[in-house]
Amino acid sequence: MKNQIVSLLIVIVPIIAFSQKSDLSQYNNTINKVKEEVTYFKIEKINAQFYMLVGGGGNVGVFINDKEVVLIDNSYEIIEDILMASLREITDKPIKFIINTHFHHDHSDGNRAFGKQGIPIVSHQNAKKRMMEDAELYGGIYSFIKDFVQPKYNDASLPVFTYESKMTLTQGDEEIELYNFGKAHTDGDSVVVFKNNNIIHTGDAFVRYGYPYVDLNNGGSIKGLIDLLGMLELLCDENTILIPGHGDLSRKEDVTSLKNTLNDLYVKTVIGLKKGLSYSEISDSIEETLNGDTSVKLNYIKSIELELSRN
Ligand SMILES: [Zn+2]
Repeated sequence: MKNQIVSLLIVIVPIIAFSQKSDLSQYNNTINKVKEEVTYFKIEKINAQFYMLVGGGGNVGVFINDKEVVLIDNSYEIIEDILMASLREITDKPIKFIINTHFHHDHSDGNRAFGKQGIPIVSHQNAKKRMMEDAELYGGIYSFIKDFVQPKYNDASLPVFTYESKMTLTQGDEEIELYNFGKAHTDGDSVVVFKNNNIIHTGDAFVRYGYPYVDLNNGGSIKGLIDLLGMLELLCDENTILIPGHGDLSRKEDVTSLKNTLNDLYVKTVIGLKKGLSYSEISDSIEETLNGDTSVKLNYIKSIELELSRN
């Protein structure tokens, strides 16, 4: 009997330890919600070669040339059929390859469907690295991301082409440039520039929902994100169209506006912390409330303090 109890414990203990470390309930809830709620992707035409699909997860970019299609991000595996139905309303050409702007599930979960079909996936090297393990996302800015663990990707759904700093891909007469500017939304972000079309897919390095989420658990940096927005401005001219990670098509001035707002918040937080001000005193010194939500502004201030403590 004693031996039986010991062997039972040996079995149970690792299961408990494993389930605590890799609690996928939040991820599974999200997937179920996406399955329940997303019935179509809205098709937004940008020009003859370019579309944006808006549905579950981040904005999906669609580039079409004479023979083939390139997707930028691919939403969720569980609604691949819905994504494909929208794509097939635009074109019947095959998908040549897929670019992941970063490793987060709402942008790259579709890898789990498209990878096993043999469609090559391209990403920054750190995005691939993050996909190879279960990843607990930073929960300090938006409370609904607390305790969110994203499961690792299997081999078939991992990117097959990666790069370190910049990569150029030629597709027909289009030149596609992928830039990584270091730590920003994560440590594996790609800003994807379609030079001839003058269209940039930014991934979550630029978003329109208010205070941008920054994944401090996975190499992200608020200071780095502000720096990236400065680099992004330099890649734009007055005619550039930006596909943000989330939200409406944007222009250079929208990038400038977000950069200035975040920079003001960052500088006032650094100075406020040095002066020994409280979080709410620092918050009061910052006029802008991007989401109209003071609690997120306070979380941002605390997250900047956390980032500074790590440097
Ligand atoms: Zn993201």
